[in-house]
Amino acid sequence: MQKIEHIGIAVKNLDEAEKRFGKLLNTLPYKRESVESEGVITSFFKIGASKIELLAPTRPDSPIQKFLNKKGEGMHHIAFEVADIDLQIKTLKEEGFILINDQAKAGADNKQVAFIHPKSTGGILVEICQEKNK
Ligand code: ZN
Repeated sequence: MQKIEHIGIAVKNLDEAEKRFGKLLNTLPYKRESVESEGVITSFFKIGASKIELLAPTRPDSPIQKFLNKKGEGMHHIAFEVADIDLQIKTLKEEGFILINDQAKAGADNKQVAFIHPKSTGGILVEICQEKNK
């Protein structure tokens, strides 16, 4: 793992959350991006070498909507940047972690991503990500 790439925060309303986090972080979001396959719209803030990713659901069956129903707004996942995501997935599996994605898939912000189930990380949803074409 190279660094904390971003922290994902589940929100109900992206417009309101952008305003709130804009004030808190004293900076504007630099992009919005929707990931259709996940039913999610994201907004990114840059904080030094890391980012904050706000996640809002775009449909009722979105994993983010399910998270909101269960836990309400708040921290959703922590994302670590890795150099070789395929190798990392293989290594994590060998070490007994439960991967939600057996293979890396396209995520927001030009990334290949995979998620590790909170069951095997002590309750934290962990994302590993690698910049595409790198
Ligand atoms: Zn993320």
